[in-house]
Amino acid sequence: MGAALIAKPVLNRNFSVITFGISQVAMDIEPGVGMLTGSAVLHGPSHTFFGALVIACLVLLIAPSICSYLLRRWNKEVIHHKLHWLVQLEAVPKVAVIVGAFFGTVSHVALDSLMHHDIQPLRPFSDANPLLGLVTHDGVYQLCAISGVLGAVAWVALQWFRHGSNDSSFNPDEK
Ligand SMILES: [Zn+2]
Repeated sequence: MGAALIAKPVLNRNFSVITFGISQVAMDIEPGVGMLTGSAVLHGPSHTFFGALVIACLVLLIAPSICSYLLRRWNKEVIHHKLHWLVQLEAVPKVAVIVGAFFGTVSHVALDSLMHHDIQPLRPFSDANPLLGLVTHDGVYQLCAISGVLGAVAWVALQWFRHGSNDSSFNPDEK
């Protein structure tokens, strides 16, 4: 999620962090099932760039309704805590869902390819994994954690500067 949070303040309304999150869950269904069933290969077809594109298309189908539901709950919470400047539009732009889904699944394959020996990200075109070992396992986690914290702080600061400084009844439709 670190990659998503660092991208959010830059792309803002053009990028859905929730869709990105859904794509992470969708990507790891295969390894999850593999772990439960004791499969020898945990990262199979879902962890290829080709598989990532297919999974992104499936995520596009379910993400908008999940996003709207979670944003409704988010808005209820922030209004309850009188943090009106954090209220978000409940309708997520199509482009934001598309960017969230494809960025989510493709970056997932790229990051996992750095760390896992059983991934062949270029299949069916090649069995090679040119990304393996470029960054250490801990390095990937540290980079993601730092990106996540920096991105979250930057996003909250941006919301505050845009909407928080002047009113307590912010209406996100008035932009
Ligand atoms: Zn994975």
